[in-house]
Amino acid sequence: MNKSFLDILVYPEIFSQLSGKSFCNKSVGSLSWLKVGGSAEYLYIPSNEEDLSLLLGSLHDEINLHIFGKLSNTLIRDGGISGLTILIPSSFCGIELVSDTKLQVGSGVSDKVLANRCLSLGIGGMEFLSGIPGSIGGGVFMNAGSFGSEFKDIVLEVNFISKSGKKIIKKRDEIDFGYRKTNLCDNMIITSVLMEGFLKDSFDIKEIMKDINLQRTLSQPQGRPTGGSTFKNTKNYKAWELINKSGMSKAYCGEAIVSNVHSNFLINKGKATAKDFENLGNMIIEEVKNELGILLEWEIQIVGDNE
Ligand SMILES: Cc1cc2nc3c(=O)[nH]c(=O)nc-3n(C[C@H](O)[C@H](O)[C@H](O)COP(=O)(O)OP(=O)(O)OC[C@H]3O[C@@H](n4cnc5c(N)ncnc54)[C@H](O)[C@@H]3O)c2cc1C
Repeated sequence: MNKSFLDILVYPEIFSQLSGKSFCNKSVGSLSWLKVGGSAEYLYIPSNEEDLSLLLGSLHDEINLHIFGKLSNTLIRDGGISGLTILIPSSFCGIELVSDTKLQVGSGVSDKVLANRCLSLGIGGMEFLSGIPGSIGGGVFMNAGSFGSEFKDIVLEVNFISKSGKKIIKKRDEIDFGYRKTNLCDNMIITSVLMEGFLKDSFDIKEIMKDINLQRTLSQPQGRPTGGSTFKNTKNYKAWELINKSGMSKAYCGEAIVSNVHSNFLINKGKATAKDFENLGNMIIEEVKNELGILLEWEIQIVGDNE
């Protein structure tokens, strides 16, 4: 039977008031950075916060929600994602300067766009964002970071909408920011974030950003589908060191291979499936455990169903 987006709405008449884009059985794997994985059973791309609120307020209770930004840290399985997938677009909420050093930033804004805005405003502390390909929402959820900085350092307050459409604000101290994780739950959609940097000369900011991007170019694979760091670094070792030591630096599964530039990056040679990536990752975890007695933990979030 053909699906209709109206099937998930308690009040189908609301549909004509929604200003976002709605789809059924829409490929989302192709939108992910790994370029693998299946379709979303239902997909919605909200145009703004009010639109998202309107949708949430008219959903059937039992529908499962999945929220994503730029899909740069997500491996979608080949069988796709059942329930409703909400993709927060780059245009979601924008950037508003609140004071000399504070900004209210929409969750869909890309990290790089914010870094460049801070460069032009002379706000320091956000330079590390220039190398991370995710959205502000994904960055908060993952407590993304690099070069000694992480989201925890620049977040003051996070605005959410719950699945039932309720607006919630959490201050930084109310959120547990860990290493590439937070205690935020899946059904809370980050809508915008109050962020703070400090006044800094734009020339100095630019030099730091140049350096960060040079180091990335030299140490990470460029121009190939990847999900960035596959595993979290452990307390005493970098994940890439463990992969090298365990002899897995040349491992592959189908068309998913370990990058020869950075062993913690897995690359899609072209025709890899999500299963190839998951199997390759699990082979690496197994070998590192057998050889070195250390359990690697996925940093990439794996979602969806097997085929
Ligand atoms: C080439 C490359 C380099 C990378 N370098 C780094 C790096 O240096 N440091 C680093 O930390 N990461 C890095 N990453 C990983 C990734 O970019 C970050 O984790 C990023 O913050 C994820 O943002 P996203 O919008 O892509 O999230 P997605 O992949 O879309 O989602 C990731 C998680 O966040 C949740 N989420 C996303 N948006 C929202 C929202 N609005 N509300 C609630 N939950 C949400 C999702 O449910 C999911 O669990 C890299 C990835 C790639 C491909």
